[in-house]
Amino acid sequence: MCGEYTAGLFGHSEKRIHCAIQEAMTRGLNLAAVSRAESELAKLVCDRFPSIDLVRFTNSGTEANLMALTVARQFTGRDTIMAFHGGYHGGVLLFTSDGPSAVTVPFPFIMAQYNDANAAENLVLAHRDKLAAVIVEPMLGSGGGIPADVTFLEALRRATAQTGTLLIFDEVMTSRMSHGGLQKRLSITPDLTTLGKYIAGGMSFGAFGGKAEVMSLFDGRLPHAGTFNNNVMSMAAGRVALDEVFTAEVADALYERGEQLRKDLNARLARAGVAMHFTGVGSVATVHFRNATVRSPYAPTSNDDSLRELFFLDMLKAGFYLARRGMLALSLVIEQIDLDRFVEAVEEFAILRQRFLRPISAAA
Ligand code: PMP
Repeated sequence: MCGEYTAGLFGHSEKRIHCAIQEAMTRGLNLAAVSRAESELAKLVCDRFPSIDLVRFTNSGTEANLMALTVARQFTGRDTIMAFHGGYHGGVLLFTSDGPSAVTVPFPFIMAQYNDANAAENLVLAHRDKLAAVIVEPMLGSGGGIPADVTFLEALRRATAQTGTLLIFDEVMTSRMSHGGLQKRLSITPDLTTLGKYIAGGMSFGAFGGKAEVMSLFDGRLPHAGTFNNNVMSMAAGRVALDEVFTAEVADALYERGEQLRKDLNARLARAGVAMHFTGVGSVATVHFRNATVRSPYAPTSNDDSLRELFFLDMLKAGFYLARRGMLALSLVIEQIDLDRFVEAVEEFAILRQRFLRPISAAA
């Protein structure tokens, strides 16, 4: 149920992806020149995501976000980035409730509260002269599986358009929510989008893309180098993964399946009367030991931490491996019978551990 933190969308052994990699390997591992698979994968990505006219590949989501921020700074001639508390955009782009973490790259950042549309809009307007970009996950992933309100994303779109600031959607996690990412499902189009995780079929991958006028800075004015950006295995696997495996129908079915799972889980937990629920979007969900009102990230109490650990271990005992922070990400190979068993196991947890959980209304 961990689904390799969303990178394992296809399971461990998708046959078509394995075949594509094996076949590519017979033709040579390291080939520096532009390859056919590379341009075909680029076309697939551009055709799917509404915001992406042109795309460039990297080796990780972290790198994709660094490049997106950098090109936004160059395009606008401004230096500051707005990010959100609880946001995660990579190993060196991590934002806690206190702001940028100790290992976050030293760009000038302005921090805002996730899902506070008015405050974020006012901050963008107030800093219009120096703000290059707003970077946001349409669902906070590692920050707690918290979906963005549509009105929040619309406010960001409005304020950035008004001020010539670039809006960057980090869809490294959420791109699985439809054939064209969460942006397509929500009909909100950012200026730049970053991708990663499952797109290359489970091989290392990252991508950033967007408006032609921004991305064309790389046609001469800005360099973008990277030894393995078009590595043979990622390109071969990604082409098959997007074209043949993760089609629009498959993406929609997985989304619906996740929505239904979360409804079932939360209905059982409400019935048990405990302050515990799952947030998320589509096939990604995260457990909270609080009332069903979580809309923004919070600093976990030691009680939250203990319950999360207990839940992780109880689920392990019941045969389910989740991300230890209480996140699950469905893969295509999970069957309905697995999901039914999981719902039962969660309900059993709520009943067995009731004395440690708070009743629904008394909890924070
Ligand atoms: N952005 C988001 C939203 C992520 O979830 C992640 C990975 N957890 C990243 C960026 C970074 O991707 P990578 O680990 O490939 O650098």
